[in-house]
Amino acid sequence: MKIIFSLILVTSFTLFGFNIYQLINKIRKGKSEKRFDNILQRIKRVLVIAFAQTKLLRDPIPGLLHLGIYWGFITLLFAVIESIGEGLLGFGKFSFSFLGTTYKVITFTQEIFCLIVLLSIFVALWRRFISKINRLQVSSSASFDAALILFWIAAIVSTLLLQNATRISLHTITANWQYPISSILSNNFANSSTTILFETTFWWSHILLVLGFLNYLPNSKHLHILTSIPNVYFSSLLPKGALKPINLSDETLTTFGAKDITDLSWKQLLDGYTCTECGRCDSVCPAHLTGKTLSPRKIVTETRRRTDEKNFNPENTLLYNYITEDELWACTTCMACVYECPVMIEHVDEIVDLRRGMVLDDSRFPPEVKTTFENLERNFTPWGFSHDTRANWAEGKNINSFFTLSEEERNQIEILFWVGCAGAYDERYKRVTQSFAELMNLAKINFAILGKEEKCTGDPARRLGNEYLAQMLITENVGTLNSYNIKKIVTTCPHCFHSLKKEYPQFGGNYEVVHHTDFLLKLIDDGKLNVNKEKKERLTYHDSCYLARYNNVIDAPRDVLKSIPGLEIVEMPRSKDKGLCCGAGGGRMWMEETIGKRINIERTEEALSTNASTIGVGCPFCLTMLNDGVKAKEASEKVTVKDIAEIILESIERN
Ligand code: SF4
Ligand code: SF4
Repeated sequence: MKIIFSLILVTSFTLFGFNIYQLINKIRKGKSEKRFDNILQRIKRVLVIAFAQTKLLRDPIPGLLHLGIYWGFITLLFAVIESIGEGLLGFGKFSFSFLGTTYKVITFTQEIFCLIVLLSIFVALWRRFISKINRLQVSSSASFDAALILFWIAAIVSTLLLQNATRISLHTITANWQYPISSILSNNFANSSTTILFETTFWWSHILLVLGFLNYLPNSKHLHILTSIPNVYFSSLLPKGALKPINLSDETLTTFGAKDITDLSWKQLLDGYTCTECGRCDSVCPAHLTGKTLSPRKIVTETRRRTDEKNFNPENTLLYNYITEDELWACTTCMACVYECPVMIEHVDEIVDLRRGMVLDDSRFPPEVKTTFENLERNFTPWGFSHDTRANWAEGKNINSFFTLSEEERNQIEILFWVGCAGAYDERYKRVTQSFAELMNLAKINFAILGKEEKCTGDPARRLGNEYLAQMLITENVGTLNSYNIKKIVTTCPHCFHSLKKEYPQFGGNYEVVHHTDFLLKLIDDGKLNVNKEKKERLTYHDSCYLARYNNVIDAPRDVLKSIPGLEIVEMPRSKDKGLCCGAGGGRMWMEETIGKRINIERTEEALSTNASTIGVGCPFCLTMLNDGVKAKEASEKVTVKDIAEIILESIERN
């Protein structure tokens, strides 16, 4: 038996080693990327996300199920090592029992986990095949894979319990508290030669199932059992949501964006092999939910398929043959997919890399994107307004521009108000800009603007894949900001906020940046603004993705609103970091939406379902999209969309 087992063991591990070697070779087709730094920070992330499964627990029922299966497997590793030891040395000749009470606790935990695993599997099968949970409905081959693996795991834990039960009947182990489940099962077996046969059968079945599982894994979506810990370990440590810059002066670069897997990084290819196809990303993707062709899960699984097939179809490319232009342009970069993915897959970075491939390498983009780029080049704003009119909104409002001030006056300025393109040009949104400036004046804040010296932050160009244009705008803005030695910036636009705070440092622009909702909260808390006018109405607040998910600005807007006497605040079903996008991010603000239902309509319907008379926002794009949604739903008479600055200004009684 020992010889047969040794041969099986060596064959299994050799095959497994070969599979892993092949996998590493595939991943190495990707570009190099430094992800070997900050070891402690990375280990901490593995402990929190992989071992404590904090991301999965955001959805408690499936999260707890997975936690049960996961930890069950970890404790079962002890039993696997024991079985291998017994196979090599003989039955009963290898055990961790020398660990004394610790061993008893381990075996007790194993038995309890076996039970939890069996129950979890039962519920998981029920959810997939009886309740038919939407996000779990995948192709029949993926469903077969999922079912097979669940039955396989059930068989592994069952054979372990039955092996222990027969050993209790045969008195080779003692029935006590450390074997709570198999003690009960042992009542079904007598101390007989038949039971010896059963024991041998269960032992062999258990270890063969384990070794078979090990070799099935590399060809299954459950490969994530092996790859998820490295994938979490190597996940990006850049500030959340910050895009990676391209070194445009690097003359060795042959492509700027990504067109095939060899243009993606090895980590992006590892993402492909880590996807569990759980569908959490699709279930929160605004584009997917409204009938667009985009599926973040498909982006990842197609990357894996292309990596597998690259050698057989060298003439094809990931971009165009596996992932279409429509899919890529549909993304709003809302980051809901990245946020929900339990194994830290970075969909948005890959989508932007592929957009860069279309824009920078192939000059392929929809006509309206071309107009946006032209406007940005000519007018330094995505819209077709003349740059000379950028500060017209401030005329007659006694607002200073930096370039009109003396050196001494500049030194007195507490904060720069970054207005943004919507704030400067959009007719409706200019009222928000003016309201916020008025609030700062009321609170006696000594602020100034850049006026005509301000240009688009580069966010739309960057998210649309035009890194070249984005970097041009960013460098010009950084030059202006640094020439005035700016230290602190406030802005009403979450997209400007995110860029200035998290992406400008990549280009030498380091500032303390606050969003106006945070700034207003501080003014209210410090007693500089007295919100004293009652507002007897019902309001629902819509979270901007670039505030809530990108920058964790979730409580401040709500706390500002709570300061208004009489205001009733109701939450939409999807809110805070689970909020649904308005549809305008990632440059979508300047693009036609012709496929499926409009995202802003989906979101407006959700807001209207709360019966609120005001929809509060903290973003110019959200304001426009929801305003359009309310008009389209013919609800303008009952519901208004307002920025928090406007709502607060209305709630201040002035003498
Ligand atoms: S970022 Fe948002 S829109 Fe883009 S794929 Fe992810 S969930 Fe979908
Ligand atoms: S990308 Fe992440 S969230 Fe989406 S299916 Fe794969 S594992 Fe699940």
